[in-house]
Amino acid sequence: MYAYHYKFLNSAYLYTLKLRLKKDVRLVREYKICDWCLKRLINEPSNEALAEAESFRSACSLCHSIPFRGELVDEALGACSPYSFRTYNVSVKMCASVLKIEDEIITKYKLKDYVTLKKGLRDHFKRALAKVLDQRLQEVRSELNIVFDFTDKFRVKIYERGYQIRLNYIKILPDAKVNAGLCPVCNGKGCNVCKYTGIANDGSLESFFIYVLPSMLNSKVNMGSQGHRRIHRVRKWIASLPPFQVDI
Ligand SMILES: [Zn+2]
Ligand SMILES: [Zn+2]
Repeated sequence: MYAYHYKFLNSAYLYTLKLRLKKDVRLVREYKICDWCLKRLINEPSNEALAEAESFRSACSLCHSIPFRGELVDEALGACSPYSFRTYNVSVKMCASVLKIEDEIITKYKLKDYVTLKKGLRDHFKRALAKVLDQRLQEVRSELNIVFDFTDKFRVKIYERGYQIRLNYIKILPDAKVNAGLCPVCNGKGCNVCKYTGIANDGSLESFFIYVLPSMLNSKVNMGSQGHRRIHRVRKWIASLPPFQVDI
């Protein structure tokens, strides 16, 4: 009887303690999150919670202080400065382990109407870049994609949109070389010299597509996993053409 009485009092006492500590203060203390994160997770947090959260600005368990580091924006500006573009888009990549902690918080504290870490950071960088870039932000089919990658060591990655070029030409000299020979260094296997195409730079039309045209356009040949297949398609297509000559 006494044991039961004691247990009851004890849990009632704990309950009132829990009530006294506001939900947002509990969240800040338990997960050590900064005020930037608190504001995106909870609508209108209390001043008390915000004041505590400010002390975690330099070591927030969620955003790892990314929104407070102005040099990241400078790095992105530096990375996209060699490119000429009219439109750009911004994306953010985060570690799965951090996103897992955020999911845990959302479920545990039954949060609603929150902004996720990824969206919050993306909006943050979008705003910061819009202040300095003259180019237009465009979500779909933008010419440049600026990726803030926090999955490993921080890196800004720049992706350009690919272009398709169609050429019309007439072969005047009947003996003009059309297909390229094999790369003399790797014998067609693919190496650094031939940019993994296996194709020699021998003045043929085919080598023009791989070596000359990209440098004229100040771009590079994209040799992704499908690269060789693409080259073979170009090769087959060139072989099917009537004789022609290209004047460059
Ligand atoms: Zn934070
Ligand atoms: Zn080679």
